[in-house]
Amino acid sequence: MPEIKVLSEDVIAKIAAGEVIERPASVLKELIENSLDAGASKIEIDIKKAGRGLIRVHDDGRGMDREDLKLALGRHATSKLNAFDDLYSLATFGFRGEALYSIFAVSRLKLSSHRAGAESGYGLEGEGGHITAEIPTAPVKGTTIEAADLFFNTPARAKFMKSDAAERAHLIKTVEEAALANLGAAFRLVIDGAEILSLPVLPGGLWENLKHRAAAIFGKNIYSGMARVEGKTAGMAVYGFVSRSDALGATRANQHFFVNRRPVNSALLRQAFYRGYGHMLVGKHPSCALFVELDPGAFDANIHPQKRDVKFSGENEIFKTVSNTIYEELITKQTASVQLAAPAGENKFSAADVPAYREAAAPPPAAADNGSLFDLAGAAPLAETPAAPADWRGKDLNYIGQLAKSYLLFECEAGLLVVDQHAAQERVLFEKYLEEFSKGAIRVQPLLVPLETELSRSQMETVLKWRDWMKTAGFEIDQRGPAVALLRAAPALFYFTQPAFADFLGYLSEVLGEPQKAAEDMKRSVIATMACKKSIKAHDFVKPQEALRLMDDLKKAKDGYHCPHGRPTLFHVSAADIARRFQRSSAL
Ligand code: ADP
Ligand code: MG
Repeated sequence: MPEIKVLSEDVIAKIAAGEVIERPASVLKELIENSLDAGASKIEIDIKKAGRGLIRVHDDGRGMDREDLKLALGRHATSKLNAFDDLYSLATFGFRGEALYSIFAVSRLKLSSHRAGAESGYGLEGEGGHITAEIPTAPVKGTTIEAADLFFNTPARAKFMKSDAAERAHLIKTVEEAALANLGAAFRLVIDGAEILSLPVLPGGLWENLKHRAAAIFGKNIYSGMARVEGKTAGMAVYGFVSRSDALGATRANQHFFVNRRPVNSALLRQAFYRGYGHMLVGKHPSCALFVELDPGAFDANIHPQKRDVKFSGENEIFKTVSNTIYEELITKQTASVQLAAPAGENKFSAADVPAYREAAAPPPAAADNGSLFDLAGAAPLAETPAAPADWRGKDLNYIGQLAKSYLLFECEAGLLVVDQHAAQERVLFEKYLEEFSKGAIRVQPLLVPLETELSRSQMETVLKWRDWMKTAGFEIDQRGPAVALLRAAPALFYFTQPAFADFLGYLSEVLGEPQKAAEDMKRSVIATMACKKSIKAHDFVKPQEALRLMDDLKKAKDGYHCPHGRPTLFHVSAADIARRFQRSSAL
């Protein structure tokens, strides 16, 4: 008896459904996208029991006739694609032809549809992939699809559902994203009998409608802190609404990115978006509805069954266009106020935010030599000095001493300047290194005794892929045996101990993707940020001359106020504030 059997159609369907239908919101997303692809101008959604009870979508689109209705439920059955290459010139959301098939496999499904011109409509009912009834229906324009009792036949799957509240939030977000991106269709969402969203199509163009929807979806509070952005380069356009830098939020829950109106999760877009804010974020998060329009051939939506991930062919251009569009809007048109001190323990990204680039959290913008961003940061009110900020850069600093081998204390304008020595060192090294890099003049120091570290095989693969590029970055990395990496030379600015090198390389091999795919300035930022961090030793004793030299360097830095991760390098406590704390009316 052979051990290998071909799986039954039933099992195959359930496995396929597992990829496409993760939760009720996945069903809703597919149904809405089908309605949009059918040219609907009105989409009505009715949800019961957080989508587990019922998801019903009614549209006024072109509908299906009897024959198409049956075909639509089959696997890989689609009207949107003929040949594989059509994928790269698609104007529809769907193309895989497996959404209805998957939904049918794990729910009790009812469809009824009417194609314009036909005498009557037609309906089908079934469950778990099997049709149980076929009936003519009233000739109501468009299509109605009801998926009830989701996962009724895959109880193991049902267990993975989150709380009703969490599933409802996903469902609402799905409709919100569809409504933000498809301004030509009216949306109405009702959950358990209560109307949650009602978004008509208003007279007026794109911006009128986008404004109205953004206000309804983000809420007045967030929306009133947003600015319209628009930018264009050859082959792409970026537009939407983004938070002004003086109206940031505590989480990134209100960020929506779209590529050709498809809602996407893209580390690249998010990183470019944050980058556009330079150092204005300081522990806060901007909201956005940001749209990128590209030639359909310039990205690939076929890398994930739920089509939420995309791959771009021109990452570099996209990164630059997105970050510059935001940056220009914020810097040239807004008067932003910047809070210098970050709330304790908070940084721009949490570890989960952008795994691939998390250490490069919004390094200074590409246009860093345009000093305006940093002037702005410099002119910001300091948290400890609400009145008139101390300009430590133009002043003589009197070194007082070191605190906890971590902080340098200076007298400045009769007040106290507290400097985080590691953050300051990181900032200075970071800028020096990037400057050498951009001039093509990295000073490289061969190591007398190479540092070595053991990696996993897959980490080693990544390191080898990056070896040539790392050489241009001043790192000569070699391989000994299958999984030992050697550092033979490094930029002279950096000082690596063996454990620091092991950390550096281990980290890079985890986060770096394909060298040729990543944007050049992003690669540089990642390397610079990590190298600086790793080459700084914690708890160093600093001599007075070194402390003063560091401050001289920091004064010259383009952004002396933040380390490369965006944490503050220093804060100032004014003499007046010190006096106030002692309930004196003046310093003496
Ligand atoms: P895909 O959208 O990838 O083609 P689906 O399984 O989602 O695959 O749908 C299969 C086909 O059924 C579609 O290609 C389309 O022709 C038809 N269809 C699905 N939903 C609708 C709808 N609401 N209105 C008209 N046709 C629809
Ligand atoms: Mg579809």
